[in-house]
Amino acid sequence: MVVDVLVIGAGPAGLALAAALCEAGLYVAGVTPADPALPWLNTYGIWEDELPTPTLAAMLRRRWTDCVAYAAGEEHRLERVYGLLDNSRLQAHLLEACERSAMRWHRQMARTVEHSAAYSSVTLSDGSVVQTRLVVDASGHTPVFVQRPPAVGIAYQAAYGVVGTFTQPPVRDGRLVLMDYRSDHLTETERRSEPPTFLYAMDFGNGRCFVEETSLAHAPAVPFDLLKARLHRRLAYHGCAVAEIEHEEYCLFPMNMPVPYLDQPVLGYGGAASMVHPASGYQVGAALRNAPTVAQAIAEALATPDPSPAQIARVGWNALWPAERLRKHRLYLFGLQTLLSFDESQLQRFFATFFRLPRQSWGGYLSNTLSMSEVMQTMARTFLAAPMDVRGGLMAAAFQHPGMLARALWNA
Ligand SMILES: Cc1cc2nc3c(=O)[nH]c(=O)nc-3n(C[C@H](O)[C@H](O)[C@H](O)COP(=O)(O)OP(=O)(O)OC[C@H]3O[C@@H](n4cnc5c(N)ncnc54)[C@H](O)[C@@H]3O)c2cc1C
Repeated sequence: MVVDVLVIGAGPAGLALAAALCEAGLYVAGVTPADPALPWLNTYGIWEDELPTPTLAAMLRRRWTDCVAYAAGEEHRLERVYGLLDNSRLQAHLLEACERSAMRWHRQMARTVEHSAAYSSVTLSDGSVVQTRLVVDASGHTPVFVQRPPAVGIAYQAAYGVVGTFTQPPVRDGRLVLMDYRSDHLTETERRSEPPTFLYAMDFGNGRCFVEETSLAHAPAVPFDLLKARLHRRLAYHGCAVAEIEHEEYCLFPMNMPVPYLDQPVLGYGGAASMVHPASGYQVGAALRNAPTVAQAIAEALATPDPSPAQIARVGWNALWPAERLRKHRLYLFGLQTLLSFDESQLQRFFATFFRLPRQSWGGYLSNTLSMSEVMQTMARTFLAAPMDVRGGLMAAAFQHPGMLARALWNA
Protein backbone atom coordinates (compact mmCIF):
# COMPACT_ATOMS: atom_id res chain seq x y z
CA MET A 1 0.00 0.00 0.00
CA VAL A 2 1.32 3.45 -0.91
CA VAL A 3 0.48 6.34 1.46
CA ASP A 4 0.03 9.88 0.15
CA VAL A 5 2.56 11.46 2.51
CA LEU A 6 5.06 10.05 4.99
CA VAL A 7 6.03 12.60 7.65
CA ILE A 8 9.34 11.97 9.40
CA GLY A 9 9.51 13.46 12.89
CA ALA A 10 6.89 14.40 15.47
CA GLY A 11 8.32 17.68 16.73
CA PRO A 12 6.25 20.88 16.40
CA ALA A 13 6.90 21.06 12.66
CA GLY A 14 6.17 17.40 11.88
CA LEU A 15 2.97 17.33 13.92
CA ALA A 16 1.73 20.68 12.59
CA LEU A 17 2.13 19.54 8.99
CA ALA A 18 0.86 15.99 9.63
CA ALA A 19 -2.33 17.42 11.17
CA ALA A 20 -2.82 19.84 8.27
CA LEU A 21 -2.25 17.08 5.70
CA CYS A 22 -4.82 14.89 7.45
CA GLU A 23 -7.25 17.80 7.51
CA ALA A 24 -6.67 18.23 3.77
CA GLY A 25 -8.06 14.70 3.36
CA LEU A 26 -4.78 12.93 2.58
CA TYR A 27 -3.71 9.47 3.61
CA VAL A 28 -0.77 10.20 5.92
CA ALA A 29 1.68 8.05 7.89
CA GLY A 30 4.44 9.16 10.25
CA VAL A 31 7.80 7.95 11.51
CA THR A 32 9.10 8.89 14.94
CA PRO A 33 11.38 6.99 17.32
CA ALA A 34 9.19 7.71 20.35
CA ASP A 35 5.50 8.03 21.15
CA PRO A 36 4.37 11.15 19.25
CA ALA A 37 2.38 12.14 22.36
CA LEU A 38 5.53 12.19 24.51
CA PRO A 39 5.65 15.83 25.68
CA TRP A 40 8.21 18.05 23.99
CA LEU A 41 10.66 19.24 26.63
CA ASN A 42 11.54 22.63 25.17
CA THR A 43 10.00 25.78 26.60
CA TYR A 44 8.28 27.22 23.54
CA GLY A 45 7.48 30.92 23.74
CA ILE A 46 5.47 32.76 21.10
CA TRP A 47 3.71 36.08 20.53
CA GLU A 48 0.00 35.47 20.94
CA ASP A 49 -0.82 37.17 17.64
CA GLU A 50 1.39 34.64 15.82
CA LEU A 51 -1.08 31.88 16.58
CA PRO A 52 -3.25 31.81 13.46
CA THR A 53 -6.61 30.68 14.89
CA PRO A 54 -8.52 31.11 18.18
CA THR A 55 -8.18 27.34 18.69
CA LEU A 56 -4.41 27.57 18.51
CA ALA A 57 -4.41 30.75 20.62
CA ALA A 58 -6.09 28.62 23.28
CA MET A 59 -2.98 26.39 23.35
CA LEU A 60 -1.08 28.86 25.54
CA ARG A 61 -0.63 27.86 29.14
CA ARG A 62 0.47 31.37 30.17
CA ARG A 63 0.14 34.86 28.78
CA TRP A 64 1.99 38.03 29.65
CA THR A 65 0.80 41.54 28.89
CA ASP A 66 3.65 43.13 30.87
CA CYS A 67 6.48 42.50 28.40
CA VAL A 68 9.74 44.44 28.41
CA ALA A 69 13.21 44.55 26.87
CA TYR A 70 16.29 46.26 28.32
CA ALA A 71 18.99 47.64 26.07
CA ALA A 72 21.45 50.54 26.32
CA GLY A 73 20.17 51.58 29.73
CA GLU A 74 16.55 51.82 28.57
CA GLU A 75 13.50 49.80 29.49
CA HIS A 76 11.28 49.26 26.46
CA ARG A 77 7.67 48.31 27.04
CA LEU A 78 6.64 45.88 24.36
CA GLU A 79 2.93 46.42 23.83
CA ARG A 80 2.26 42.91 22.64
CA VAL A 81 1.02 39.76 24.36
CA TYR A 82 3.56 36.97 24.77
CA GLY A 83 2.70 33.40 25.67
CA LEU A 84 4.10 30.04 26.56
CA LEU A 85 2.79 27.07 24.64
CA ASP A 86 1.14 24.27 26.52
CA ASN A 87 3.11 21.56 24.76
CA SER A 88 0.92 18.64 25.83
CA ARG A 89 -2.27 20.45 24.84
CA LEU A 90 -0.91 21.49 21.47
CA GLN A 91 0.38 17.97 20.81
CA ALA A 92 -2.96 16.44 21.81
CA HIS A 93 -4.80 18.91 19.57
CA LEU A 94 -2.61 18.12 16.54
CA LEU A 95 -2.65 14.39 17.21
CA GLU A 96 -6.45 14.44 17.38
CA ALA A 97 -6.53 15.72 13.80
CA CYS A 98 -4.15 12.89 12.85
CA GLU A 99 -6.25 10.29 14.66
CA ARG A 100 -9.47 11.47 12.99
CA SER A 101 -7.84 10.39 9.71
CA ALA A 102 -6.55 7.15 11.21
CA MET A 103 -2.96 8.24 10.59
CA ARG A 104 -0.47 5.54 11.52
CA TRP A 105 2.81 6.31 13.32
CA HIS A 106 5.74 3.91 12.85
CA ARG A 107 7.85 3.96 16.06
CA GLN A 108 11.13 3.78 14.15
CA MET A 109 13.92 5.85 12.73
CA ALA A 110 13.86 6.60 9.01
CA ARG A 111 17.16 5.43 7.55
CA THR A 112 17.23 5.59 3.76
CA VAL A 113 15.08 6.78 0.90
CA GLU A 114 14.85 5.79 -2.75
CA HIS A 115 12.69 7.36 -5.42
CA SER A 116 10.98 5.96 -8.48
CA ALA A 117 8.79 7.83 -10.95
CA ALA A 118 5.64 6.91 -9.01
CA TYR A 119 6.62 6.79 -5.35
CA SER A 120 9.40 6.97 -2.75
CA SER A 121 10.45 4.06 -0.55
CA VAL A 122 11.66 4.82 2.98
CA THR A 123 13.48 2.10 4.87
CA LEU A 124 13.02 2.19 8.64
CA SER A 125 15.38 1.04 11.39
CA ASP A 126 13.65 -2.35 11.68
CA GLY A 127 14.25 -2.96 7.97
CA SER A 128 10.61 -2.43 6.97
CA VAL A 129 9.86 -0.25 3.97
CA VAL A 130 7.11 2.37 3.64
CA GLN A 131 6.05 3.43 0.17
CA THR A 132 4.74 6.95 -0.19
CA ARG A 133 3.99 9.48 -2.92
CA LEU A 134 5.80 12.20 -0.94
CA VAL A 135 8.30 12.15 1.90
CA VAL A 136 8.23 15.11 4.29
CA ASP A 137 11.41 15.34 6.31
CA ALA A 138 10.62 17.15 9.58
CA SER A 139 13.45 15.52 11.51
CA GLY A 140 14.85 18.78 12.88
CA HIS A 141 17.90 20.93 12.31
CA THR A 142 20.10 18.01 11.20
CA PRO A 143 17.72 16.39 8.77
CA VAL A 144 17.90 12.75 7.81
CA PHE A 145 17.16 13.26 4.09
CA VAL A 146 16.91 16.93 3.16
CA GLN A 147 19.99 18.23 1.35
CA ARG A 148 21.31 21.77 1.72
CA PRO A 149 24.12 23.69 0.07
CA PRO A 150 27.34 23.44 2.09
CA ALA A 151 27.11 25.55 5.24
CA VAL A 152 29.91 27.88 6.29
CA GLY A 153 30.11 30.11 9.37
CA ILE A 154 26.97 28.74 10.95
CA ALA A 155 25.89 30.81 13.96
CA TYR A 156 24.08 29.11 16.80
CA GLN A 157 21.57 30.32 19.30
CA ALA A 158 22.61 28.89 22.65
CA ALA A 159 20.93 29.28 26.01
CA TYR A 160 21.00 27.81 29.48
CA GLY A 161 17.83 28.17 31.51
CA VAL A 162 16.30 27.19 34.81
CA VAL A 163 12.68 26.81 35.84
CA GLY A 164 12.51 26.96 39.60
CA THR A 165 12.18 29.00 42.73
CA PHE A 166 14.57 31.74 43.78
CA THR A 167 15.72 33.40 46.99
CA GLN A 168 14.44 36.73 45.55
CA PRO A 169 12.19 37.13 42.51
CA PRO A 170 14.50 37.42 39.46
CA VAL A 171 11.68 39.01 37.48
CA ARG A 172 8.80 41.22 38.54
CA ASP A 173 5.41 39.56 39.25
CA GLY A 174 3.48 38.93 36.05
CA ARG A 175 6.30 40.10 33.79
CA LEU A 176 7.99 38.70 30.71
CA VAL A 177 11.49 39.94 29.93
CA LEU A 178 12.11 39.24 26.26
CA MET A 179 15.66 40.47 26.30
CA ASP A 180 17.69 42.02 29.12
CA TYR A 181 21.08 43.07 27.80
CA ARG A 182 22.12 44.84 31.02
CA SER A 183 25.65 43.70 31.75
CA ASP A 184 26.74 45.60 34.88
CA HIS A 185 27.62 42.26 36.46
CA LEU A 186 30.43 41.74 33.93
CA THR A 187 33.88 43.31 33.94
CA GLU A 188 34.84 45.78 31.24
CA THR A 189 37.18 43.15 29.71
CA GLU A 190 34.42 40.53 29.63
CA ARG A 191 32.06 43.00 27.99
CA ARG A 192 34.66 43.86 25.38
CA SER A 193 36.14 40.45 24.66
CA GLU A 194 33.41 37.86 25.30
CA PRO A 195 30.25 37.27 23.25
CA PRO A 196 27.21 39.30 24.33
CA THR A 197 24.40 37.43 26.07
CA PHE A 198 21.04 38.49 27.47
CA LEU A 199 18.51 37.29 29.99
CA TYR A 200 15.16 35.90 28.81
CA ALA A 201 12.90 35.55 31.82
CA MET A 202 9.30 35.03 32.79
CA ASP A 203 7.33 34.97 35.98
CA PHE A 204 5.19 31.84 36.34
CA GLY A 205 3.46 32.98 39.55
CA ASN A 206 3.61 31.39 43.03
CA GLY A 207 7.31 32.21 43.28
CA ARG A 208 8.23 30.16 40.20
CA CYS A 209 10.14 31.71 37.32
CA PHE A 210 11.99 30.74 34.17
CA VAL A 211 15.32 32.49 33.64
CA GLU A 212 17.53 31.80 30.65
CA GLU A 213 20.90 33.29 29.69
CA THR A 214 20.86 33.47 25.93
CA SER A 215 23.29 34.11 23.13
CA LEU A 216 21.13 35.33 20.24
CA ALA A 217 23.60 34.03 17.68
CA HIS A 218 27.30 33.34 17.70
CA ALA A 219 29.77 31.37 15.62
CA PRO A 220 30.98 29.16 17.19
CA ALA A 221 28.19 28.59 19.70
CA VAL A 222 28.67 30.12 23.14
CA PRO A 223 29.50 27.22 25.51
CA PHE A 224 26.85 26.20 28.06
CA ASP A 225 29.38 26.60 30.92
CA LEU A 226 29.80 30.27 30.11
CA LEU A 227 26.03 30.79 29.84
CA LYS A 228 25.47 29.01 33.14
CA ALA A 229 28.16 31.00 34.93
CA ARG A 230 26.79 34.22 33.48
CA LEU A 231 23.25 33.42 34.56
CA HIS A 232 24.29 32.82 38.16
CA ARG A 233 26.46 35.95 38.21
CA ARG A 234 23.64 38.04 36.78
CA LEU A 235 21.24 36.72 39.40
CA ALA A 236 23.78 37.27 42.19
CA TYR A 237 24.32 40.87 41.03
CA HIS A 238 20.59 41.43 41.55
CA GLY A 239 20.76 39.79 45.01
CA CYS A 240 19.14 36.58 43.92
CA ALA A 241 20.03 32.89 43.67
CA VAL A 242 18.31 29.71 42.54
CA ALA A 243 16.61 28.04 45.52
CA GLU A 244 15.26 24.95 43.79
CA ILE A 245 15.65 23.74 40.21
CA GLU A 246 12.57 22.13 38.64
CA HIS A 247 13.90 21.91 35.12
CA GLU A 248 17.10 22.88 33.33
CA GLU A 249 16.99 23.80 29.65
CA TYR A 250 19.96 23.50 27.32
CA CYS A 251 19.14 25.17 24.05
CA LEU A 252 21.27 24.98 20.93
CA PHE A 253 20.25 25.30 17.32
CA PRO A 254 21.56 26.88 14.11
CA MET A 255 20.24 30.30 13.13
CA ASN A 256 21.42 30.66 9.55
CA MET A 257 21.42 27.26 7.90
CA PRO A 258 21.17 27.66 4.13
CA VAL A 259 17.73 27.14 2.66
CA PRO A 260 17.68 23.57 1.28
CA TYR A 261 17.81 22.80 -2.44
CA LEU A 262 14.28 23.45 -3.67
CA ASP A 263 14.42 20.89 -6.48
CA GLN A 264 14.97 17.77 -4.37
CA PRO A 265 12.41 14.96 -4.28
CA VAL A 266 11.94 15.13 -0.49
CA LEU A 267 10.11 18.08 1.07
CA GLY A 268 11.52 19.52 4.31
CA TYR A 269 9.54 21.21 7.05
CA GLY A 270 10.56 23.00 10.27
CA GLY A 271 14.22 22.96 11.26
CA ALA A 272 14.89 20.58 8.37
CA ALA A 273 13.70 23.26 5.94
CA SER A 274 15.71 26.07 7.63
CA MET A 275 12.49 27.71 8.84
CA VAL A 276 14.14 29.23 11.92
CA HIS A 277 13.77 33.02 11.80
CA PRO A 278 17.33 34.38 11.57
CA ALA A 279 16.42 37.48 13.59
CA SER A 280 14.94 35.70 16.58
CA GLY A 281 15.48 31.93 16.42
CA TYR A 282 11.71 31.37 16.57
CA GLN A 283 10.11 28.81 14.37
CA VAL A 284 7.10 27.18 15.98
CA GLY A 285 4.72 30.01 14.97
CA ALA A 286 5.82 29.73 11.33
CA ALA A 287 5.42 25.94 11.41
CA LEU A 288 1.83 26.29 12.67
CA ARG A 289 0.94 29.19 10.36
CA ASN A 290 2.32 27.72 7.13
CA ALA A 291 1.11 24.15 7.57
CA PRO A 292 -2.40 24.54 6.03
CA THR A 293 -1.04 26.34 2.93
CA VAL A 294 1.70 23.77 2.35
CA ALA A 295 -0.73 20.89 2.97
CA GLN A 296 -3.24 22.34 0.50
CA ALA A 297 -0.54 22.74 -2.15
CA ILE A 298 0.53 19.12 -1.64
CA ALA A 299 -3.08 17.93 -1.86
CA GLU A 300 -3.52 19.78 -5.15
CA ALA A 301 -0.26 18.38 -6.55
CA LEU A 302 -1.31 14.86 -5.57
CA ALA A 303 -4.59 15.35 -7.42
CA THR A 304 -2.82 16.01 -10.75
CA PRO A 305 -2.33 13.05 -13.12
CA ASP A 306 0.56 10.79 -12.07
CA PRO A 307 2.85 13.31 -10.40
CA SER A 308 6.31 12.03 -9.44
CA PRO A 309 7.60 12.53 -5.88
CA ALA A 310 9.94 15.22 -7.25
CA GLN A 311 7.02 17.10 -8.83
CA ILE A 312 4.96 16.98 -5.64
CA ALA A 313 7.94 18.03 -3.54
CA ARG A 314 8.60 20.95 -5.90
CA VAL A 315 5.05 22.22 -5.34
CA GLY A 316 5.54 21.87 -1.58
CA TRP A 317 8.87 23.72 -1.64
CA ASN A 318 7.30 26.53 -3.67
CA ALA A 319 4.47 26.85 -1.15
CA LEU A 320 6.94 26.86 1.74
CA TRP A 321 9.56 29.11 0.19
CA PRO A 322 7.78 31.36 -2.33
CA ALA A 323 10.04 33.91 -4.03
CA GLU A 324 9.14 36.82 -1.71
CA ARG A 325 9.69 34.77 1.47
CA LEU A 326 13.06 33.67 0.12
CA ARG A 327 14.10 37.25 -0.56
CA LYS A 328 12.98 38.36 2.90
CA HIS A 329 14.88 35.46 4.39
CA ARG A 330 18.04 36.59 2.59
CA LEU A 331 17.54 40.08 4.04
CA TYR A 332 17.09 38.61 7.51
CA LEU A 333 20.28 36.59 7.02
CA PHE A 334 22.07 39.77 6.04
CA GLY A 335 20.66 41.44 9.18
CA LEU A 336 21.91 38.56 11.31
CA GLN A 337 25.36 38.73 9.72
CA THR A 338 25.46 42.40 10.68
CA LEU A 339 24.55 41.70 14.29
CA LEU A 340 27.26 39.03 14.47
CA SER A 341 29.85 41.72 13.77
CA PHE A 342 28.60 44.03 16.56
CA ASP A 343 30.26 44.32 19.95
CA GLU A 344 28.09 44.35 23.02
CA SER A 345 27.69 48.09 23.18
CA GLN A 346 26.69 48.38 19.51
CA LEU A 347 24.29 45.49 19.91
CA GLN A 348 22.60 47.15 22.88
CA ARG A 349 22.20 50.44 21.04
CA PHE A 350 20.96 48.61 17.97
CA PHE A 351 18.20 46.90 19.95
CA ALA A 352 17.33 50.11 21.80
CA THR A 353 16.75 51.70 18.38
CA PHE A 354 14.89 48.69 17.05
CA PHE A 355 12.43 48.51 19.96
CA ARG A 356 11.75 52.26 19.66
CA LEU A 357 10.25 51.60 16.20
CA PRO A 358 6.45 51.31 16.00
CA ARG A 359 5.26 47.96 17.30
CA GLN A 360 3.96 47.04 13.89
CA SER A 361 7.51 47.33 12.49
CA TRP A 362 9.53 45.53 15.15
CA GLY A 363 6.73 43.03 15.75
CA GLY A 364 6.23 42.27 12.07
CA TYR A 365 9.99 41.98 11.55
CA LEU A 366 10.33 39.45 14.38
CA SER A 367 7.30 37.44 13.27
CA ASN A 368 8.03 37.57 9.55
CA THR A 369 4.63 39.03 8.75
CA LEU A 370 5.89 42.10 6.84
CA SER A 371 6.09 42.36 3.08
CA MET A 372 9.52 42.65 1.44
CA SER A 373 9.13 46.42 1.11
CA GLU A 374 8.04 46.72 4.76
CA VAL A 375 11.10 44.73 5.87
CA MET A 376 13.28 47.09 3.85
CA GLN A 377 11.51 50.11 5.36
CA THR A 378 12.01 48.69 8.86
CA MET A 379 15.71 48.19 8.19
CA ALA A 380 16.02 51.70 6.73
CA ARG A 381 14.20 53.25 9.68
CA THR A 382 16.45 51.41 12.12
CA PHE A 383 19.49 52.59 10.20
CA LEU A 384 18.37 56.24 10.15
CA ALA A 385 17.42 56.28 13.83
CA ALA A 386 20.56 54.44 15.05
CA PRO A 387 23.53 56.22 16.68
CA MET A 388 26.40 57.04 14.32
CA ASP A 389 28.72 54.15 15.21
CA VAL A 390 25.88 51.62 14.89
CA ARG A 391 25.14 53.09 11.47
CA GLY A 392 28.84 52.73 10.70
CA GLY A 393 28.63 49.05 11.69
CA LEU A 394 25.56 48.54 9.50
CA MET A 395 27.32 50.16 6.55
CA ALA A 396 30.50 48.18 7.14
CA ALA A 397 28.44 44.96 7.04
CA ALA A 398 26.92 46.03 3.72
CA PHE A 399 30.45 46.50 2.32
CA GLN A 400 31.72 43.25 3.83
CA HIS A 401 28.82 41.16 2.53
CA PRO A 402 27.71 42.91 -0.67
CA GLY A 403 26.70 39.59 -2.24
CA MET A 404 24.24 38.79 0.55
CA LEU A 405 22.56 42.17 0.28
CA ALA A 406 22.49 42.09 -3.52
CA ARG A 407 20.93 38.61 -3.56
CA ALA A 408 18.18 39.76 -1.24
CA LEU A 409 17.47 43.08 -2.92
CA TRP A 410 17.78 42.10 -6.54
CA ASN A 411 17.29 38.34 -6.36
CA ALA A 412 20.81 38.08 -7.83
C1 LIG B 1 15.63 24.32 24.10
C2 LIG B 1 15.04 24.97 22.88
C3 LIG B 1 14.10 25.97 23.05
C4 LIG B 1 13.52 26.56 21.93
N1 LIG B 1 12.58 27.51 22.13
C5 LIG B 1 11.90 27.98 21.07
C6 LIG B 1 10.82 28.88 21.27
O1 LIG B 1 10.54 29.31 22.40
N2 LIG B 1 10.08 29.30 20.20
C7 LIG B 1 10.40 28.85 18.94
O2 LIG B 1 9.70 29.20 17.99
N3 LIG B 1 11.45 28.05 18.71
C8 LIG B 1 12.21 27.60 19.75
N4 LIG B 1 13.26 26.76 19.53
C9 LIG B 1 13.71 26.53 18.13
C10 LIG B 1 12.91 25.52 17.29
O3 LIG B 1 11.61 25.93 17.14
C11 LIG B 1 12.95 24.15 17.87
O4 LIG B 1 14.26 23.69 17.64
C12 LIG B 1 11.89 23.16 17.32
O5 LIG B 1 11.86 22.06 18.21
C13 LIG B 1 12.19 22.65 15.94
O6 LIG B 1 11.07 21.88 15.55
P1 LIG B 1 11.16 20.70 14.50
O7 LIG B 1 9.84 20.01 14.59
O8 LIG B 1 11.63 21.23 13.22
O9 LIG B 1 12.32 19.75 15.04
P2 LIG B 1 12.43 18.92 16.39
O10 LIG B 1 11.65 19.52 17.48
O11 LIG B 1 13.90 18.72 16.61
O12 LIG B 1 11.76 17.52 16.06
C14 LIG B 1 12.38 16.60 15.17
C15 LIG B 1 11.71 15.25 15.35
O13 LIG B 1 12.24 14.34 14.39
C16 LIG B 1 12.57 13.11 15.01
N5 LIG B 1 13.61 12.46 14.20
C17 LIG B 1 14.89 12.85 14.01
N6 LIG B 1 15.52 12.03 13.16
C18 LIG B 1 14.61 11.07 12.81
C19 LIG B 1 14.65 9.96 11.96
N7 LIG B 1 15.76 9.61 11.28
N8 LIG B 1 13.54 9.20 11.83
C20 LIG B 1 12.40 9.53 12.49
N9 LIG B 1 12.29 10.60 13.31
C21 LIG B 1 13.38 11.36 13.46
C22 LIG B 1 12.98 13.51 16.41
O14 LIG B 1 12.90 12.43 17.29
C23 LIG B 1 11.94 14.60 16.69
O15 LIG B 1 10.71 14.05 17.10
C24 LIG B 1 13.89 26.16 20.62
C25 LIG B 1 14.86 25.17 20.47
C26 LIG B 1 15.43 24.58 21.57
C27 LIG B 1 16.48 23.51 21.37
